[in-house]
Parts: sequence; C-alpha cells; structure tokens
Amino acid sequence: MQARRPLQNLLVALVVLIPVTGLAQTATTPEGQRILEHVRILSSDEYAGRAPGTDGIEKAATYLERTFTSTGLKPMGTKGYRYPFTMTTAAALGPKNSVNFDVVVERPGVPLEMTKPTKISWKLGVDYQPYAWTESRSVSGPVVFAGYGLSVKDKNYDDYANIDVKGAVVIVLRGLPKWAEKDDAFTQHGALRAKATLAREKGAVAVCFVNEQGDSSDVLARFGLDRLGAHSGIVAVQVRRTPCARIFPPKETSMFVAEAAINREKKPASFALTRTTATVSTDVVLQESETSNIVGMVEGTDPALKGQYLVIGAHYDHLGMGDENSLAASREPDVHHGADDNASGTSAVLELAARFAKNPARRSVLFMGFSGEEKGLLGSKAWVSTPTVPLSDVVSMINLDMVGRLKDNKVNVQGYGTSSKWPAIVDSAKAYAGLTVSTTADGLGPSDHSSFFSKDIPVLFFFTGLHSDYHRPSDTWDKINADGTAAVVAMAERAARDIANADDRPDFIKPEPSKTQSGSIALKVSLGVIPDYSDDPNGLKITGVRAGSAAEKAGLQGDDVITKIDAMAIKNIYDLMASLGTYKPQDTAKVVVLRGGKEVTLTVTFAGK
Ligand SMILES: [Zn+2]
Repeated sequence: MQARRPLQNLLVALVVLIPVTGLAQTATTPEGQRILEHVRILSSDEYAGRAPGTDGIEKAATYLERTFTSTGLKPMGTKGYRYPFTMTTAAALGPKNSVNFDVVVERPGVPLEMTKPTKISWKLGVDYQPYAWTESRSVSGPVVFAGYGLSVKDKNYDDYANIDVKGAVVIVLRGLPKWAEKDDAFTQHGALRAKATLAREKGAVAVCFVNEQGDSSDVLARFGLDRLGAHSGIVAVQVRRTPCARIFPPKETSMFVAEAAINREKKPASFALTRTTATVSTDVVLQESETSNIVGMVEGTDPALKGQYLVIGAHYDHLGMGDENSLAASREPDVHHGADDNASGTSAVLELAARFAKNPARRSVLFMGFSGEEKGLLGSKAWVSTPTVPLSDVVSMINLDMVGRLKDNKVNVQGYGTSSKWPAIVDSAKAYAGLTVSTTADGLGPSDHSSFFSKDIPVLFFFTGLHSDYHRPSDTWDKINADGTAAVVAMAERAARDIANADDRPDFIKPEPSKTQSGSIALKVSLGVIPDYSDDPNGLKITGVRAGSAAEKAGLQGDDVITKIDAMAIKNIYDLMASLGTYKPQDTAKVVVLRGGKEVTLTVTFAGK
C-alpha cells in the first residue's frame, strides 16, 4: 500500500478506521497454512523486500510464475505470464556535481576591484548533496538568504518580500520557525517541495536547503531517499549548517544571527549576501529498470460470458532495503519484509487462483501480481493503459492489499459505492465468511484498484488495517493472522463467484467523494483532479476527475496534462498544491492543459472544501 505523502491526504480516510496492534501468527486451518507458507517465503530475507529493479523482486516474480504454472493458469501477460514495464527505480549521482562560491571580502586599503574573491567549495556527500528530484544542470548567480523560504499571505509573512531572487541562488532553512510549527496556515508551505516550487516561481535558479537549528543530527539524508522524478524545475541541494554558514561574508549578518532573529521577532530577515556569487552544478541520473506484472487466467466455462473478465489482483512489490516510503526510524538499509504489505494479498491471490482453477466460473478470471505499486501504482496503471484483454470486457476488479492482520474479525471493504450490485454481494459474502465489515464508498484509494476505478471499472478493495509495523522492517510473517487472511479469502471468493457467475455484469457508479477525502486540511479549495504519479516532462498528468468537482465542471478530462494555472507553471503534484493554496472558494482561474498534444485553456471556478 502506498505511503501517505502530504498530497495523498485526499486518500487517507481509511487510516482512522482500524488500528491494529501486535498479533502472534495463527494458521490452524489447511488454507491458513498454505497462505502462511506463501507469506513466509515472499517476505523472507532472501527476497530482500522485493523492490523493483532488484534480485529480490525477480525471485518473487519467478515464485508467482511457478505457482501459476503449477496451478494451471493460462499465461496472459505479454511474455508468458510476465507483463514487463519500465520504471524509475533509483537515482545515482553523475560525475558533474559541484558547488563553488566566490566571496569578495573587503580588505582595508585594497580597492574592491582589485580584491581577489575568496573561493569556497562544498564537498559532495560531506557538506552537501543534491536531492534526487533536482533538475540536472549548471547554474550561476548571486547568493541570497531567504529565511525559511515561506510566503504565507493569510499570515502576512513573506520571506521574499524585500529581496529580489531572480537569477539567484537562494539559501533556505528547512522546516518552519518554532512559532509557526503548529500553525496549519504554515504547515502546508513547510514541505521541501512547496518551498522549491515557490523559490522557482520567484525566479531563483537554485535552492540550497540548510538543516535548521536543533536538527541535532545535522547530517545529510541518505541520497536518493526522496520522491524520484517528478520534474521540479529547479536545481536543489541539501547542505549541512557549518559549511553553509561559512559562505556568509565575515563582519556581516551570519546565518545563525538571521535565523535567531526570525525565531525571536517572528518576522523575515532575508538579505542578499554582498559580493557573493555561486555556481551550482547538479548531475543526477535516474535509473530505469524493467519489472513485471505477473498475469494468469482461469478461463470461463460459459461460451457467452467467458469473453468477459473479472480481475483479482494484489501488488507483490515492496520497499526493498528501505526507500523514500520507509517509515523506519533508522535510515540505514534494512530488509523491509512486507509480510502484510503485501505478501498477504499476493498469497490470497495465489490461494484464490488455485480455487478457481479447480472450480472455474462462467466468466474468465484474470489473476494479477502488480509491481511498482509502492512508487505510484505503476504496474496496475501500465496494465490498464495497455491491457492484454479489451478493457471494456473487464467487468470488475477485486484488490487485496494488507489482508494479513485481521483483528476482531473486522475487514474494511472499499469501492462499496462503485456498483449498485455491491451491497447485496458484500452482505452475502461477509455472512458466508463470518466477518464484520466496514465500508467506504470511494473507488479511489492508495492501492491498485484506483487504476481500474479511474477507467470506470467497478472495484472492491479488501484491507484489514494499518499497524505499527507498516512500512518498517518489522512487518514480518510471524505477526500474520493467516486464519484471518483465510477468512478474507473466503469472503473475496464468494464475492468473486457472485460477480463471475451472474447473468449480468455489474454496473459502474462514480460515487461523490466523501467530505473526509477532499484535499489536504490546510487548503481552502479543491479542484477534484486525480493525479497520475508517473512522470510527464510537460506537466502534471491526471488519470481522471472526481464526479461533481470543479475540474469536472470546467471540462478537465483523464489523460489531460496540466501545464499552467493562471501565471504559475505546473510541473508536478507539489506545484498543483502550491497553486491551490493561493485561491479561495468561488475564485476563478485559467487552467492550461495539453490534450492529445494540443493546448486547451479552461476556466475553473474553485469549489470550497
Ligand atoms: Zn506499501
């Protein structure tokens, strides 16, 4: 399951539903034991956390292939069971990274024009390092200290008020001033990406983020552990406090003094560093790797219906040795076992495949193991955009993600509002499995069913809740409630058979987004677009719009690429949030999108949240 990113607040409703604490593994039934065996293998050290682009996930892919083969499934990928696609899996530092300063320090009796600049360089990996989302290029300009890099109109606070940073290299403190840390109006502006967007929009060519006071560690984060790709449009590096303070000209305001002044007086203290220029060159190489979805089929028995498909899927990738989505306290590489996330769902798919192979339904059933889910649902998105069966013949999708920690017999079912058939089907399935169910109407959520919902396919998503091992190395097989997973499998099987054996295919409904899911808390307006987290060099691609939203009313559509909102360039999801933060309900704005390669300008009237 995808980790919450500031921007993924629009998908958080489920978090509060089912907190689950430590459970000893239970597997008293044969099906529970079969499921636990799959989980134990997939989440073992040998599989090394199944990160795309690594041997660990290759082992898992082979394991799924072998199991599909022995179960007798028909290969339905593009290469046998495999459905390969390419994704960005890592970032590496290229050879051309450097940061150099020229500081002309006044010397008594020496005319300035005769004074040679003092040259200061930062050491890569020691003093500073680029962010993986930086633009890779070389830029030069005057150096300007811009405080915390904030512009919060509602609070009449603007670090950029009395400075001009056009063409400049700006120094910006990470985090927020102490007095603003708990103020919602500031928090949305405190994120690194929001600050980078603002610095770019103010005309800066590079931003150097310096660790803030009190950041006892004052260490550089492990390189590459930040959101890959997603064009930021600016050169961005992280620098430690001491090397950063060194470039502030002696006898002038030091970085520490300015920082203390902002925290004491609650007002900006930005200034240009006199006679100081910098050249910042960044060179980050994004590594693309091939990874595969694994797709197999149990063909339907009814000649009239076997050309229709029910998809049952789960992602089998996870975080490997820990990446930007890890919630582990330590940033040291460590196997993120992902027993619940999502070896449990993958094992459920393997178990269901075996059952349908023994007892096929009238419609055909496609079983899928997705890769790339943790990086933005990339595998399921790849399949729905280039499916191996006609998408119009896919009648529904059942997704299983984190079904290993059932507690109190309670399971959460999402997508409940995406077909009028679901209430009856879910009711009979829960009774059959003896489970208690909480439901969420929306078909959008932080897992692969969203990709199918975005293509107007009714979905059901099974989930047993978050817990304190989520996205940490401690998500291990010995905490899996395998009998609980077996009960979820029983419920999913019943629902699947009802769908695959029914005379009519389920209708599709686009439920209105519930209030809890409309954008981040601090924003006053919502637009209602569904972001596509895969990269687009032109701007922010969307997979669809929410029913009844400002975006729908303005005529935005799935696959549109948003490039501009009024005067602001939109290069990624962070830019969109920064832009939305500047509007009030009923404000209108010109939104420019690329549609089929052509520019289209639409007028949006923002809705209040
Ligand atoms: Zn996950």
